[in-house]
Amino acid sequence: MSKLIFPAAPAPTLPIAGSDDRIPVQRVFCVGRNYEDHAKEMGQQVERDEPFYFTKSNESVVQDGAVVPYPQGTENFHYEFELCVVIGSPAHNVSVADALSKVFGYACSLDMTRRDLQLKKRAKQLPWDIGKDVEHSAPIGIVVPAAKFGAPGKQKIEMRQNGVTKQSSDLSCLMWSIPELISHLSTLYHLRPGDVILSGTPAGVGPCVAGDVLEGTIEGAGSLKVTIGKPV
Ligand code: MN
Repeated sequence: MSKLIFPAAPAPTLPIAGSDDRIPVQRVFCVGRNYEDHAKEMGQQVERDEPFYFTKSNESVVQDGAVVPYPQGTENFHYEFELCVVIGSPAHNVSVADALSKVFGYACSLDMTRRDLQLKKRAKQLPWDIGKDVEHSAPIGIVVPAAKFGAPGKQKIEMRQNGVTKQSSDLSCLMWSIPELISHLSTLYHLRPGDVILSGTPAGVGPCVAGDVLEGTIEGAGSLKVTIGKPV
């Protein structure tokens, strides 16, 4: 009988509010340009033809309280604070009306980005992967079950860098709502429990350096705090 010649990396897991159980994270989908004010600050046209996505390896997921090492290859490492949607049941070709029934819960998350590399690749119409799928670049906090969070509506989303507010908006400013995103993504993928969607960031993104403390909150979804560390 054949065997694995080295152990497979275990899926990262997330804590669940009010439970000792944890969620294994499968695929990490991210939504690009989903707040109008952020699209503008990135120098992009605001279009609502259809949402677009990129992905991160689930190995990029780290826990609340983590030290995120400043990655190699960049001189412009940016924070983007976002609502993370955790899928809880299979979703394929779901309607907008049914989409929220597929959600397990919601969490605070960061989409840490090597902005210089992302923009360089974008300008050449090349893939963004090395700008976005960065090791340690997807901190995700405690998952609040959907029944407790309620439906995404006008909940405030805010992020502070060393105590200074840098991003402040609310979920009603999403250009593509959470049900619209799930429905659309489910026409492209067979979404499964443990898949997560980082739903886009409001304006106010910016660079960070080793020693910075990033702390964000989303009303009803708790908080997330990381420290940027030295390169490893
Ligand atoms: Mn993002």
